[in-house]
Amino acid sequence: MTVDPASLAILRYPHPMLLKTARPVEEVTSEVRSVAARMLELMREARGVGLAAPQVGLSWRLFVANSGQEGESDRVYVNPVLREPEGGLEAAEEGCLSLPEVLGDVWRPPIITIEATDLDGRRFTLRSGELLARVWQHECDHLDGRLIIHRFGQMAKLANRRILKELERAGKK
Ligand code: ZN
Repeated sequence: MTVDPASLAILRYPHPMLLKTARPVEEVTSEVRSVAARMLELMREARGVGLAAPQVGLSWRLFVANSGQEGESDRVYVNPVLREPEGGLEAAEEGCLSLPEVLGDVWRPPIITIEATDLDGRRFTLRSGELLARVWQHECDHLDGRLIIHRFGQMAKLANRRILKELERAGKK
């Protein structure tokens, strides 16, 4: 399968690709590099802080992120694995480029380590206790077909019920 990066666009809930477990990337090829570059472009255009491959229709364990904090550069994470979460669960409001206008509190551990492969095919490890830690967890959820709405509590579910119904209706067209 060859992907044309120019054809990629951000999919919206309830597209079935968003609910599937993505497959590992076997090798970092030039195709993977050009897809990642296009995903960073789409992320910036949409003013997002992260974008996962299933959100552009690819069943790949890959995401791009830049939480926008000072000195942080764009980064690509291939076959990421999270470990060593620390601290009790903390709530913060999250949105998602695949769920326009949907916002709600999601509970996550504040500190976590990520191990992933970069675009040179090298494994790297990072640990964060900043916003980036939350972005990693949000994006890794996408690779397992899990969205923020699946992590919402009762309040956030109720608050977003109407907009979710609208998205579901629009998705059937
Ligand atoms: Zn998302």
